[in-house]
Amino acid sequence: RIAACRSIHTASRLLQEAAKTSEPDAYEFQAETRMLLDIVAKSLYSEKEVFVRELISNASDAIEKARYFALQGRELDSSEADMKIHITTDKYDKTLIIQDSGIGMTKEELIDNLGTIARSGSKAFIQQLQEGGTADPQSIIGQFGVGFYSAFMVAERVDVYTKSRLPGSIGYCWSSDGCGKYTIEECEGVEPGTKIVCHLKTDNREFANEQTIKDVIKKYSSFVGSPVEVNGEQA
Ligand code: ADP
Ligand code: MG
Repeated sequence: RIAACRSIHTASRLLQEAAKTSEPDAYEFQAETRMLLDIVAKSLYSEKEVFVRELISNASDAIEKARYFALQGRELDSSEADMKIHITTDKYDKTLIIQDSGIGMTKEELIDNLGTIARSGSKAFIQQLQEGGTADPQSIIGQFGVGFYSAFMVAERVDVYTKSRLPGSIGYCWSSDGCGKYTIEECEGVEPGTKIVCHLKTDNREFANEQTIKDVIKKYSSFVGSPVEVNGEQA
């Protein structure tokens, strides 16, 4: 009963925050990305918690990039943004949300950055697989890391709300279940920066536990260049 109420509350809050204003455009992941996602989604890799480190490090990079642009004297929206990484856990909705007020992404950047593999390590690995190499599929996650895509080890769907801080930008929602396709919709009410909503697989719902996330952050805290808050408290 409480869970149901929480869901409705969260759903209406999300709707208020970000209303989709266009029909979703569907895109297919690049072939190499599909291959990588397939490995990631089926992965029995035991240290799934590394996805938290990857998403936090992306948030931190995005904040650094905004800082760098500001230092260069470039005009940015929301220059008063707090430059913190906000993490929200919701064990009723089985969601983990990572929000930053970093540089954000334009539609083109969403397609380029989240639809194709840019990481050279992952690329080399996939090439090896395609050439019939004998590399262990699990080794890519541990050795090279799979960045953003690591979220699909634990999430059945990932929604990315983003708005570039470059002036005149509009907000978007990118969404995927990691199975070949993703959608992009225009979205009103998106905060400048990026908010990543991980809808956790039932087996991975521990990552919607506040304490679990705090422990993971403690373990990897040296990787983070910006303050991290979990449910409104300094982690
Ligand atoms: P890497 O961080 O090594 O470039 P990732 O797979 O982790 O690879 O991320 C891919 C790209 O997606 C990043 O380079 C960045 O351009 C974009 N990206 C991911 N997360 C964010 C974010 N929170 N804010 C802005 N851009 C992001
Ligand atoms: Mg990264």
